[in-house]
Amino acid sequence: SASSDPTSSPEIQPDVRVRGAREHNLRNVDLSVPRDALVVFTGVSGSGKSSLAFGTLYAESQRRYLESVAPYARRLIDQAGVPDVNSITGMPPAVALQQQRGGRSARSSVGSITTVSSLVRMLYSRAGHYPDDQPMLLAEEFSTNTVEGACPECHGIGRVFDVPEEKMVPDPTLTIRERAIASWPKAWHGHQLRDVLVALGYDVDVPWQDLPREHRDWILFTEETPHLPVHSRLTLTEAREAIDAGAEPTYSGTFVGARKYVLDTFANTKSAGMKRRVAEFLSVETCPVCQGKKLKPEALSVTIAGLDIAAFSALPLHELMTVLETEVASAKAAMDAGEEFGAAFVRLGEGLIDRLRPISDLGLGYLSLDRTTPTLSGGELQRLRLATQLTSDLFGVVYVLDEPSAGLHPQDVDALMGILDGLKARGNSLFVVEHSVDIMRHADWLVDIGPGAGERGGKVLYSGPSAGLAEVEESVTREYVFGDRGLEHHTPREPQGWLRVDDVRRNNLADVSIEVPVGALTAVTGVSGSGKSSLVSQALPVLVGDRLGAGTEANEPAPDADDLLLVDESEELAGTVTGDLTGIRRVVSIDQKPIGRTPRSNVATYTGLFDHVRRRFAETPEARERGYKPGRFSFNVAGGRCPTCEGEGSVMVELLFLPSVYTECPDCHGTRFQSSTLEVLWRGRNVAEILDMSVEEAHEFFTGEFDIVRSLTALIDVGLGYLRLGQPATELSGGEAQRVKLASELQRSQRGDTLYVLDEPTSGLHCADADRLVAHLQSLVDAGNTVVMVELNMRVVAVADHVIELGPGAGSAGGQVVATGSPADVAATGRGPSAKYLAAALQ
Ligand code: ADP
Ligand code: ADP
Ligand code: ZN
Ligand code: ZN
Repeated sequence: SASSDPTSSPEIQPDVRVRGAREHNLRNVDLSVPRDALVVFTGVSGSGKSSLAFGTLYAESQRRYLESVAPYARRLIDQAGVPDVNSITGMPPAVALQQQRGGRSARSSVGSITTVSSLVRMLYSRAGHYPDDQPMLLAEEFSTNTVEGACPECHGIGRVFDVPEEKMVPDPTLTIRERAIASWPKAWHGHQLRDVLVALGYDVDVPWQDLPREHRDWILFTEETPHLPVHSRLTLTEAREAIDAGAEPTYSGTFVGARKYVLDTFANTKSAGMKRRVAEFLSVETCPVCQGKKLKPEALSVTIAGLDIAAFSALPLHELMTVLETEVASAKAAMDAGEEFGAAFVRLGEGLIDRLRPISDLGLGYLSLDRTTPTLSGGELQRLRLATQLTSDLFGVVYVLDEPSAGLHPQDVDALMGILDGLKARGNSLFVVEHSVDIMRHADWLVDIGPGAGERGGKVLYSGPSAGLAEVEESVTREYVFGDRGLEHHTPREPQGWLRVDDVRRNNLADVSIEVPVGALTAVTGVSGSGKSSLVSQALPVLVGDRLGAGTEANEPAPDADDLLLVDESEELAGTVTGDLTGIRRVVSIDQKPIGRTPRSNVATYTGLFDHVRRRFAETPEARERGYKPGRFSFNVAGGRCPTCEGEGSVMVELLFLPSVYTECPDCHGTRFQSSTLEVLWRGRNVAEILDMSVEEAHEFFTGEFDIVRSLTALIDVGLGYLRLGQPATELSGGEAQRVKLASELQRSQRGDTLYVLDEPTSGLHCADADRLVAHLQSLVDAGNTVVMVELNMRVVAVADHVIELGPGAGSAGGQVVATGSPADVAATGRGPSAKYLAAALQ
């Protein structure tokens, strides 16, 4: 029988030993886990799984590696974080695959993160079909990210900004004096531009549409910036008279064409307001030179199977494999017939097929090489990285993974387990933080941490072969793995009405029609890539929002050029909404996008509770005496914050040959504030100490402060009690960001007229946390709201009122409704892959 003392296990000899781990909430943990095994770390959110697997084991392995390659970096690495642990022995070199947090670059793609694109470029360079008169190109010349390859017009972005006349001059019946040119600045600068035009001899007092074409074109599109003396506020006739009379010019002004003004301001202004204003006049167009293909014409003239490299990279990977297999076969045939040319193609093509196979095996064959990373889910990104590792031929390493099952349908989880087994069979170790009960059951060894989150967690409750967890009474996980603890059986609600969404087109959805019950909870399920996100997160909120004439609510920061140029607007979206809309006044999409792109936004600022906290500080006698207003206690504006790090708490240090590291600010020591600000106390604590509290600690500390407690309660309700108030938004996982948004909604008073749209709300959650979250979604529905969510956990799907299953497969093999009805109906009669898993969950 299994024992909680792992060293006594007869089957597996533990050999990675940790002594005295105290990172974050870990309570002086001792632990031994086996190598060459699948070790799964479990526990509720915030219990300390990541602190152990990533913060201690991986961090230590990383530190040793960095030290060995760059001794001079030691001091900086030490500052950047040495795990708090007495000793770790037996740890192999580690490779971590974490769910990506924070922003991703739209310049990186499936092809670049898997490095498959570099092979494709090689293939086109060496073995592509060239036009007769064209010399061979280097591989770099097929890259959109190099000067050698990029389209000279759009610099490899595929799109260009245009500033169309209709936007700059929305009402051509106005004169320039009446502000016909809406894109010009207001106030004095606008007047100056007008005065200069007068001095140049243009009439600003006739309707725009009556000016000669060449005058209009010059005013809008000239690149010239003449500088000349002008007379202020005169008409053309008056100005001519003033000049004839020898009147002294008022001042000297510079002219800037309307288009140039918009583009220059957008590129250079530091003011978010200005930037947002001029962005209104920009339109994004497909690059006229490369037609959006991003490459120079010579590169696009080289083909394989009749496809240029852009078309090739746009194919779904499984189709790409078929194309390559066919081409390799015919190249082989040609070689057999004595042709020289085929050899390079066969070698490179076969190499490429080998690289693509594990990606397809991981259920990602529906992706294309050109898909940009911001459009991928965290789970897809992690599986891509995993697939890349599978072909790297490494052995003897430990892979540290963060919930590889995220975003996977139960059917795909089976495939994932096969892949993990394959890595293990090659002589690697796997340390996996997971919430999937199936993977826990599949593990060789379980490490259960808990029992609770934060201060109530941090203990190893069990470490040993999986079966032994059954005996550990303190473990919450045990009840899900071995018991049948779960959500109460749910009787589907009677909906208040039905909303119809017809003929939806988006990505792989081809004229899909669905019915959504109003005042009920709908779960949309299906294998990965079947179209759930396309339907639920992309199409539904926009279509319903348009129908309501309100749009979805979002708190968007000022756009930057990359946002506008790289954002994928080319995908079509169509569909019609009919039926019962009386119960729905607003649409709120609670997605996994980051809640902020800088470390300046955090849980406290996003939920608005920090405003209340700052006000409390400003109300203290000490603050009044010193004249400190609430702004003094902000780290986002100059005043009370630390001037060295401008309130970030850390400064970036560039390391030669290594990724730059953030290290604690030497002046404020990470507190973000000036010492004078920190001298003001509220209930005995300064503002930095409050930002350092976990939500749960703060909940106790602010007892009686209703407005603050309400936000904190909402955060605890969605399972985020363990987050620190000041934890930067960039450190939150997609799932955590989504739950912060949900909490912000829950803290509002419920009017019962909202359609909530959620994408995989339970991803990243322990079963116990998921249950709590679902209880809150049910309460939103009980309050009269409508909830539609993408959900893959069949325990959760089982308690929905209505189920829509998309499929049957992924990508072009999916995109249809394969089953719909109550959970019991779908389990009994569904044609899709969910039926059998749902039936099991309903038992
Ligand atoms: P899990 O992986 O089980 O969800 P974590 O290891 O992420 O849990 O968190 C365990 C505890 O450590 C929580 O109380 C969390 O707030 C805290 N914690 C996590 N990251 C940090 C950090 N960078 N600084 C301070 N505390 C942290
Ligand atoms: P699911 O949510 O069921 O995993 P998705 O809706 O994300 O599926 O994807 C359905 C199909 O649409 C897939 O073929 C996917 O590659 C494609 N797709 C999804 N988002 C985008 C996008 N932003 N651009 C291009 N294709 C996309
Ligand atoms: Zn171009
Ligand atoms: Zn500082």
